[in-house]
Amino acid sequence: MPTSLVHLRRGALLCAALALTVPLPAANAPAAAPAQPPRTPVVAAPARTWEFAEDGVVFDSQFPAARLSECTRLGPGAYAVTSEPENRPINPSPWFAFRVRAERPRPVSIRINTATARLRYVPKVSVDGRRWITLPAEAFVRGEREDEGTIRIDVGPEPLWVAAQEIVSGEDLDSWGRSLESLPFVARSEIGRSVGGRALHALDIDATASGAASGCVVIVGRQHPPEVTGSLALMRFVETVVAETPLARRFRARFAVLVVPLVNPDGVAGGHWRHNLNGVDTNRDWDRFDQPETRAVRDAVRAMRETRRPVLHLDFHSTFSDVFYTQTDDKPMQPAGFTKVWLEGISTRVPSYAIKRTPNANPTQATSHHWAHREFGIPAITYELGDNTDRALLQTVAAAAAESMMEQLLALVPETPAR
Ligand SMILES: [Zn+2]
Repeated sequence: MPTSLVHLRRGALLCAALALTVPLPAANAPAAAPAQPPRTPVVAAPARTWEFAEDGVVFDSQFPAARLSECTRLGPGAYAVTSEPENRPINPSPWFAFRVRAERPRPVSIRINTATARLRYVPKVSVDGRRWITLPAEAFVRGEREDEGTIRIDVGPEPLWVAAQEIVSGEDLDSWGRSLESLPFVARSEIGRSVGGRALHALDIDATASGAASGCVVIVGRQHPPEVTGSLALMRFVETVVAETPLARRFRARFAVLVVPLVNPDGVAGGHWRHNLNGVDTNRDWDRFDQPETRAVRDAVRAMRETRRPVLHLDFHSTFSDVFYTQTDDKPMQPAGFTKVWLEGISTRVPSYAIKRTPNANPTQATSHHWAHREFGIPAITYELGDNTDRALLQTVAAAAAESMMEQLLALVPETPAR
């Protein structure tokens, strides 16, 4: 085991011991700011190649979003790869991504180990890094340990990409944003920089007459690097809002949309499991705003509210199944009653789709949706997509969600909102 990992583990034990001594918050302390446990330092995964000359097999992790901490040979054509998280403690969403090739076509077996976290994702493979397939059951067998599984697959001279989910990198999201920028009512700008100095981009979708917007929808995404299905849904949702349909044109005549598709570019680039480059879960920072990423989004939203009042906040994520984390219907907010009719509108459009809604989830966590609801008194929703949600269904539901949102905001929000 590399020395740094030994230190990491010892550090984690020490941190766990220290956590026991953290005093409980006083009864009148603000519920939105629970003490966070001490964190271990962030460890970057190496960008390197591992060559096994005796087999003519090469692994590499030299591409954006790669994560492969160690690779060893177990025997002829048999290898073990490990993905360690960027730091601990951390939620168990173990990302991994690497490439493998062989001088001559041959079968290989690759044991994937995710460092004590349950192997959550069924590996996907790709020959070009763009089109992906989920490995079928005969090519991927889970191990006796929950953090292990073994791939058996043929490789050849062309690199085979292997990843926890299909890769939607920061570069992919940037080029998607640039493609929307060609529309006359979309402006793309830098709203700040990440810990690692990467640009945070916002798409400002505004076809309203100057100063006449009835309101603005705020959309954020990819706070958590492995949550690719959240990005897929966010892109489809936004594409539906900018489409040349009668509904979208009517919506854009009255409403603006501010989109920050990638809140955690360093985490995505580094193949992180969860955190930013400071080792912080940005979606637990929407009270302290200690991190430059959350501060930049907060400031961009606040900066526009004088002229375009936020009316809805959506934060796209991924978890084990599709679920909407919402406020309860009895909470006062404007537009009143939006969430219920929005979700009903999705059901009407996709009758076979079972909506799962969890009101008031994790009320003490400093998530973006709790912040937006408190700050603006608006519906603010974490839209979670399942890790394994059928990708065609995901596209259908995300488009239906955008259509229903446009329809309901047009119906519920007065043309000249109260300032
Ligand atoms: Zn998330």
